[in-house]
Amino acid sequence: MKYRIRPLMMLVICLLFAAWFVGPSKVLALSPASIRIRVDSNLVQMVDSLPFVENGWTYVPTRAVLEAYGVDSISWNAPFVIVNKGDMTLKIPIGQSFIEKNGIKITTESPALIKSSRTYLPIRAVIRALGGTTVWDPETKTVLITRSNTDISSAGSSRKLEISFIDVGQGESIFLNHNDTDILIDAGLESQGGRVVNYLKSQGVDDLELVVASHVHEDHIGGLPAVFDAFKVQSYLDSGISAATYSYKALESKVIAEGCLRFDDGNQILRFGDLSIQVIETVAVYEDLNDTSVVILVTYGNTKILLSGDAGVAVDRYLTKVGPVNLFKAQHHGSWTGNSEFLLSVLRPGISVISYGIGNPFGLPSQSAMAILKKHSGNVLWTAGKTVVISTDGNIMMVQ
Ligand SMILES: [Zn+2]
Repeated sequence: MKYRIRPLMMLVICLLFAAWFVGPSKVLALSPASIRIRVDSNLVQMVDSLPFVENGWTYVPTRAVLEAYGVDSISWNAPFVIVNKGDMTLKIPIGQSFIEKNGIKITTESPALIKSSRTYLPIRAVIRALGGTTVWDPETKTVLITRSNTDISSAGSSRKLEISFIDVGQGESIFLNHNDTDILIDAGLESQGGRVVNYLKSQGVDDLELVVASHVHEDHIGGLPAVFDAFKVQSYLDSGISAATYSYKALESKVIAEGCLRFDDGNQILRFGDLSIQVIETVAVYEDLNDTSVVILVTYGNTKILLSGDAGVAVDRYLTKVGPVNLFKAQHHGSWTGNSEFLLSVLRPGISVISYGIGNPFGLPSQSAMAILKKHSGNVLWTAGKTVVISTDGNIMMVQ
């Protein structure tokens, strides 16, 4: 008997402990305030009604999310929520597991609900009916919504992407603008922060949708704290490597104080309207901090832009997968440590741009790298003494 009771008691104790342990964390994980929603990377602002999980399905406040998705109208005709987008009409009944799309019934896993006189929609089913996709990211407790290509191309757009390689002397700073999307990658040395801020202001920037710190060297991140001081920053991406340097600590404290959304440099695609920012993860082990540089492939229409900070030949094998590109930011200020013959023969850029200042103390750009860049690029430009601005309509690159 002894031996039969004791295991049973142990089991009861274990179950009680497990219930105590799992219970609160589960409640925390599903508490409304902790669920975030992003449409094409843009965080949806929800004030008076928040998402929640019921029977395993995530429910979201109707208006905030559908407006962020870009539907034309939302109306109420009991018992239906009626959503119009282009030539599509969705009729979503409350309390029934189907959605009517242009008169055709689609069975769903979960019905729309009314709670405290507000309507909540089962996010997955509705977005699927609209033609988009949803992914649940458990780590950040975020529902990631991606709109369909048709939604994106029908969105209001000036059809122009502008890329500025800002003259920051010995350093690097790249600014991308497309409609209301403003993205900054690096801001040169600390002494250049003001110059970068002024340039962004001259371009009408009010906030930055994304700031990228390519790697921890001061000639890239030194000016970023001034940028955080001057603009609201929505999201931030870095290499995930820390450093015991003044410039790294200064930047990190600004990022923390800003409380913006943070991304690491793992493989992922961030979408801003019809602009795609593909982050390409490279070497896990490195000897040179330059090789930890965040690698970004920007795709806009039919054009590709490759930005890889100060990365050297150690990351070539990741970059060659990208294939030919229209615009290449030459690596490491035109150093021989990158810009290899192997890499450039695959990338064959229409334009290569080198960021460096006149009288570079390391003799950059190196003659050998310059020869390779010239051999394989349609055109080679540099920032020494002049900000280089290139614009594209998604097909043709134009130097301003
Ligand atoms: Zn550098």
